[in-house]
Amino acid sequence: MDNSIYRFLFSIFAFVLGAAVGSFLNVCIYRLPRELSVNEPRRSFCPACKKPIPWHQNLPLVSWLVLRGRCANCGTKIAFRYFAVELLTALLFLAIWQSFSWPMAVAYWIFVSFLIVGTFVDFEHFIIPDRVTIGGIIAGFAISLAVPALMDTDSRVAAGIRSLLAAVLGYLILLIVLEAGKVAFGKKRIRFDAPTPFTWKRQGDDADFVIGSEQSLWSDHFAREKDRLLLQCNEAKIDNHTYGNTTLDFHHDRVAVEGNEFVLDNLTEISGVARELQIPREAMGRGDLKFLAAIGAFLGWRAVLFSLFAGSLLGSIVGLITLVVGKRVWSAKLPFGPYLAFGALSWMFFGDAFLRWYLGLVSAQ
Ligand SMILES: [Zn+2]
Repeated sequence: MDNSIYRFLFSIFAFVLGAAVGSFLNVCIYRLPRELSVNEPRRSFCPACKKPIPWHQNLPLVSWLVLRGRCANCGTKIAFRYFAVELLTALLFLAIWQSFSWPMAVAYWIFVSFLIVGTFVDFEHFIIPDRVTIGGIIAGFAISLAVPALMDTDSRVAAGIRSLLAAVLGYLILLIVLEAGKVAFGKKRIRFDAPTPFTWKRQGDDADFVIGSEQSLWSDHFAREKDRLLLQCNEAKIDNHTYGNTTLDFHHDRVAVEGNEFVLDNLTEISGVARELQIPREAMGRGDLKFLAAIGAFLGWRAVLFSLFAGSLLGSIVGLITLVVGKRVWSAKLPFGPYLAFGALSWMFFGDAFLRWYLGLVSAQ
């Protein structure tokens, strides 16, 4: 047979395999964050009516189209995500097959499977399960031993060491970013040595906020719409309401206490005695650290740096767009995992080209 026919058949095979794997990834995306087993029940079931889906209604891509995105039993809409994940996986499997020689291609197939599950779970639940992240680190290490070319070497020992070091780098570099962020944004939780009096006094558009001997402007504590400040009080007085042992939950424009909400604009003074101050911040989750470690274990240390850079860049752009469009406030919790995955994918396909371009720039100096 002609060589090009082989190539064509193998490309179809890669696409169909990708669609089938995508179908399994959908199961993982649904079940992993819900602590359900991936193997039991074997058969997929409708999330609404729980009826098992027979194999002929569970064909990747085809079934969703034929059933027009509805459960054949109860008619409940099946999320477009199911179709999207199957198509995305199929296209990535095909692109990988066409871009890399076969042992590398298989390694990358496994890698993108982890990326896809991590990305879609993070979108929905703002977490990345350990089975994806730690599982990814272990898989990346094992596959680097099996396919040392993944780590740019032909020595298995060197590949294993590089894979592990890149995983450690991925974890540490995000940990540093996370901790530096905490330092930059101030302490999260301050416990006072002794009960400390505080006052909040209206001052035009703003307010003076005094705790013990520390005085500050109210607006200094709220950079973002969703920022909060919690005060554990032994006693508190809001205008003419008095409270005993309670927690004041401040937003920039209101304070909630024991189920009541006061608009700060309508208040002139809040006072009391506090024993603890908390500033909850929505930071990156620990899952992101392990996720970047898994990317390192599969792709090496350069990919760690590139994914972090490209992911942060894309995250900032998307953040700006959503800010301008006004759908979300800047502070809205954005999952970071999908951006890291985007960076990792870009590196996988274009890392070599990027490196050549970059080195060309450097040597041209
Ligand atoms: Zn159903």
